[in-house]
Amino acid sequence: MSERVYLDWNATAPPLDVVREAMIEALGRTHGNASSIHREGQRARSVIERARRAVAGAVHAPPQSVVLNGGATEGNNHVLTAHAAHTPDAYILCPVTEHASVLEVVESLESSARARVGHIPVDRAGRLDLGWLERTLEAEPVTLVSVMAANNETGNVTPVARVRELTRAHGAALHVDATQAIGRVALDLGELGADFATLSFHKMGGPKGIGAIVLREGVVLEAMLSGGHQERGRRPGTENVVAAAGLDAACRALSRDGARWFEELAARRAALLDGLSVLGGALELRGDLESQLPNTLNVAFEGVDGEDLLLAIDLDGVGASSGSACTAGSLEPSHVLLAMGYPREDAQRSVRLSFGPTTPLPAIARAAGVIVAHARRLSG
Ligand code: PMP
Repeated sequence: MSERVYLDWNATAPPLDVVREAMIEALGRTHGNASSIHREGQRARSVIERARRAVAGAVHAPPQSVVLNGGATEGNNHVLTAHAAHTPDAYILCPVTEHASVLEVVESLESSARARVGHIPVDRAGRLDLGWLERTLEAEPVTLVSVMAANNETGNVTPVARVRELTRAHGAALHVDATQAIGRVALDLGELGADFATLSFHKMGGPKGIGAIVLREGVVLEAMLSGGHQERGRRPGTENVVAAAGLDAACRALSRDGARWFEELAARRAALLDGLSVLGGALELRGDLESQLPNTLNVAFEGVDGEDLLLAIDLDGVGASSGSACTAGSLEPSHVLLAMGYPREDAQRSVRLSFGPTTPLPAIARAAGVIVAHARRLSG
C-alpha cells in the first residue's frame, strides 16, 4: 500500500525534521525555569532568547519587538481585547472572511459594548473591498483595522501594504494575522510596519502551541493575564522551552530555505492543478487566482458534495479538509464562502487542498489521481 498523502497543511503541518530533533534534544537537556538564576535556568533562558532572535530574523523585525505566546488564537484574542480595553471609543474593522479567533472576539467585544465593530465586505473571489475600507476610514473614527495576511480557506493573499497605507493615512492602528502567510510567502514585518502582527508556526512545520506577537517599535501591548513578569510583563506564565527550541529551528530553516520553499510550493501547486485539470469544466477553482498562497487550492467539483469526496479520498489515502479545522465537524458551510456569495449547496462542494514544500511531488500526482477518480464516480 502506498503512503498517505497529507493535504491539510493549512490546518497544521508535520514538524520539520530539524524541529523534531531540536525539541527532543531540549526535552532531555533543558529542564530549568527560564526565570531562575541558576545554571539550569540560564540554559532555559538562552533557548527562549535564541528563539526570539530566530523569529525576529525570519520576519525582519527587532528581537525586542517579539512577544512569545501560545499561538495565534491567543495572539488575536490578546491584541483585539487589549485594544478595546485601552482605547477610548474603540472602533474595529475586519473582513467578514477572518478566522474565528478574530471574528468571535470582535463579536464579543461588540455585544458587550467594549468596541464598535464593522465588517469589510469581499467580492465573489474573496478580495477585500478596499474602496469600502477607504470610505469608512474617511467617514468614521476607526481605531484599529484587523486583517489576515492570507486566508486559511481560500489561500487569498491580502494586499496588506495597501491596507497599511490606508490605516496610516487615517490614523488607525493595524493588526495583521500572518499565521497562514509565514513560510509560504515572503514576510517582512519591519517593512510592513503593522502595529501588531500575530504568528503561529505549526502550519510551516514548527511546533504547535507556541506563537508570537510582533509589535511595531514603540507600540504598547497591555497584558491580558496577571501573575508573572515573563515576556516583559506582556505574557505571564512559565515559558515553553521545548516548543521554543523547535520554534528556533523552524525559523532558522525558514530564513535559510524560505526562497526555495516558495518555489517548491509553486511547483507542487502547478502539478496538483495539472492533475485535476483532466476534469475540464467539472473542476471549479475558488478564491483570487491572481493572488493566492502557493500551497493552497480551494476547489469544487460539479455535482459532488465536499464531505462525500473528503471521506472517499481519506479511505483511499488522501487527507484533506473542507475548510477551517476550527469549524470542521460542524455541518455549517464555510462562513468564508458564504461571505463570498456562494449559496449553501455550492459552498458545501468546496474542498481545500493544502500542502508543504516537503510534500513529495509524486505524492501530489497520486493524490490528484485519487481525487479525480472519486469526483468522477460521485458525480455520476
Ligand atoms: N489565524 C488563522 C488565519 C489560522 O488559520 C489559524 C489556525 N487555524 C489561527 C489564526 C489560529 O492559530 P493557532 O492554531 O496557533 O491558535
